[in-house]
Amino acid sequence: MPTRPYVIDEMISAKQIAARIEELSREIAHEFSDTDKLVVVGLLRGSFVFIADLVRELDLAVEVDFLEASSYGNAMESSREVKILKDLRGAIEGRDVLVVEDIVDTGHTLFHVIGLLKARKPRKLRTIALLDKPSRREAPIKADWTGFEIPDEFVVGYGIDFAQRNRNLPFIGKVRFTDDG
Ligand code: 5GP
Ligand code: MG
Ligand code: MG
Repeated sequence: MPTRPYVIDEMISAKQIAARIEELSREIAHEFSDTDKLVVVGLLRGSFVFIADLVRELDLAVEVDFLEASSYGNAMESSREVKILKDLRGAIEGRDVLVVEDIVDTGHTLFHVIGLLKARKPRKLRTIALLDKPSRREAPIKADWTGFEIPDEFVVGYGIDFAQRNRNLPFIGKVRFTDDG
């Protein structure tokens, strides 16, 4: 489906992201220093680049699992209804778990996923989001760690798409439409 013409303006560079991940991974390693093997859960699909870089900076034994929850479809509006499209492969009862999200926007996705995972009785459950748009929040949730707080702009890159494109950009950029619509 063709979209309106747009350009992408860089907002957060690949270098800034890498530096922030180094800082965050030190804090996370400290938080989980008594953990035997951490289960790092990536929320598909937007977190796949972030989780890949994050686990390679983590000086810990980790297991990687994925969960896919529906939120956006191809539109730019968030829906309140959250469905699990792909569940974890492994059990997390009694385990230490870090949930990795790309963006916390209204917060409905993370709020729902956290509720679902808590019911499985992990020993410790923490959350990290690369990006946070606090001005958009509707659900009462904040990630334990956030990479960057950003304004209410539609962003792409570093795993995050616009209509399934631009996930492979190495930086975070904002979408700017170039027609007069
Ligand atoms: P929430 O449930 O917090 O409203 O939405 C979270 C999800 O919406 C994010 O994980 C992401 O997939 C999507 N989302 C929120 N803001 C943006 C954005 O600026 N760009 C893109 N591509 N997706 C976004
Ligand atoms: Mg997401
Ligand atoms: Mg998306």
